[in-house]
Amino acid sequence: MLGRGRNRRDQENDPSIHGETDAFRNAGRQTNYRDKILVTTLAPCWYCSGLIRQFNIGTVVVGESVNFFGHFGWLKDAGVTVVDLHDERCITLMTKFIEQSPGIWFEDIGECNSH
Ligand SMILES: [Zn+2]
Repeated sequence: MLGRGRNRRDQENDPSIHGETDAFRNAGRQTNYRDKILVTTLAPCWYCSGLIRQFNIGTVVVGESVNFFGHFGWLKDAGVTVVDLHDERCITLMTKFIEQSPGIWFEDIGECNSH
């Protein structure tokens, strides 16, 4: 494992710290990203999907895409292999989080102005 991270936007008051970007930054500079695997609890947002495409990360493993569908087609169009585990533990985790913290959730997915 090169790096790990978690969404710390609320804790650090920094909207750019998503789980994916935190892990990516903690992994440091790499010479090649095509052979790397990004593993994430929830399907990546546009911001993180852009990071995946920008650096040409080869594979994304997603815990779930029920609570947020993500942009799998856009990733696959760039040759990214997407594996959706549809893991009940991830679905339950995200469902409970959304129920408990809807304001944080909608801000996180970029819909803070509409809720
Ligand atoms: Zn994101």
